[in-house]
Amino acid sequence: MTTYKSVNPATGETLEEFPETTSADIEAALAKSDKAYHTWKTTSLDERAAVLNRVAEIFQERKDDLARLIGSEMGKPFAQAKGEVDIVSSIFRYYAENGASFMADEKLSVAGGGSAVVRKAPVGSLLGIMPWNYPYYQVARFAAPNLMLGNTVLLKHAPNCPQSALAIEQIFADAGLLDGAYINIFATNDQVADILADQRNQGVSLTGSERAGSAVAETAGRNLKKCVLELGGSDAFILLDTADLTKTAKMAAAGRLGNAGQACNSPKRFIVKDDLYDDFVSELTARISKVTPGDPADPSTTFGPLSSQAAADNLMAQIKDAIDKGATVHAGGKAVDGPGAYVEPTVLTDITPEMRAYQEELFGPAAVVYKVSTEDEAVDLANSSPYGLGGAVWSEDTDKARAVADRLDTGMVWINGLAGTQADLPFGGVKRSGIGRELGKYGMDEFVNKKLIREE
Ligand code: NAP
Repeated sequence: MTTYKSVNPATGETLEEFPETTSADIEAALAKSDKAYHTWKTTSLDERAAVLNRVAEIFQERKDDLARLIGSEMGKPFAQAKGEVDIVSSIFRYYAENGASFMADEKLSVAGGGSAVVRKAPVGSLLGIMPWNYPYYQVARFAAPNLMLGNTVLLKHAPNCPQSALAIEQIFADAGLLDGAYINIFATNDQVADILADQRNQGVSLTGSERAGSAVAETAGRNLKKCVLELGGSDAFILLDTADLTKTAKMAAAGRLGNAGQACNSPKRFIVKDDLYDDFVSELTARISKVTPGDPADPSTTFGPLSSQAAADNLMAQIKDAIDKGATVHAGGKAVDGPGAYVEPTVLTDITPEMRAYQEELFGPAAVVYKVSTEDEAVDLANSSPYGLGGAVWSEDTDKARAVADRLDTGMVWINGLAGTQADLPFGGVKRSGIGRELGKYGMDEFVNKKLIREE
């Protein structure tokens, strides 16, 4: 049974617990979402855009409170949490501004005369299942394009972010969204399965782990429901050469430690050419060792706790497994003494295929560095991961970097830059990192009925 509960990961204190959702609650939510769909789909694009713009504004008006809230529920430092709120507003504005053009009719040239267009229509009530690592951003990526399309949303958030989940629902209500077009549900996994089996549901989008994606995709498949999956990643940061190793190592450390290392697309495996390897390891270690854990509520904190004690324990088990099997520890390697789900920023080398750290995603502040002697070796190692979310290639020779980028089996690659996200760029992966895309025009292309209108 899933229990929705806020626990401050910096202290271990339980802040608030929420009652279980009954099957009658789920039935009522499904009925209301479906009913709202039949009205919402008839609203004009201007009307939908106005609501989305108002949602963007309210996120800005409540920025500090919203930032503090996720800090208290999942440990994000205040400054980073405010940055998340800014991205969220940009996503709602982006779909408000561009949604109409993404939905414009597509005229086809047809053999045999007459005319044909593809008209973009909504499909109905959708289910979103979201994780705790970017509690507002993950919801925005799914809700903004789909509400703009005319779909309605039932949202099951992570059980450790119930207050953030309710804050989002309140923002939609305060922005004047049609009642029932966005409903938060504190559903259990069994209730999720019931929703997917119901004919009123038309699809599901899940952001989360490979384990969750596989379970939900299985249920969706059985019920012939489309699913979009944004899953884990073990992105490679391939360093071929650099004119400024100190700066590159600084970027590497920042990428690995942002959000306490809990970003799907943060660099997790550093793959470095042998001539730079020793210097890179020592520069990265120097940077990472300097970082001190702090209280997420303190505006000067750059590195907070992991989202929960369970998350910290899981990462520590992966680190310990590597150390027990012969990995070298350059920094960290231990949990931080005292209360809170803190893990020391860690740098490991001598990682071998029998270690969990080689194949698994390290969802926390732990960097692993590998030495390679050729570009081919770098590409092979990067592609040996079961994941295929993103990656980065660093070189002064951009042609060389582009050629390596072309060979990576991932959904996204950055050249001479840290992986990030923005409203107008598609986001998603291949292999075990998922199916489908969010953001950009592609984010409005998943749950849309591309309806052919043929005139003879
Ligand atoms: P998680 O444990 O998989 O949970 C994600 C969501 O899925 C939660 O709401 C969870 O709810 C739900 N869930 C899990 N099993 C389910 C089931 N059988 N049926 C229905 N719902 C289920 O993931 P997390 O630990 O919160 O998030 C971290 C993972 O997300 C990492 O692997 C990270 O890389 C990935 N992620 C990917 C992206 C991307 O865009 N590709 C972005 C962010 C994060 P319950 O806890 O109630 O089961």
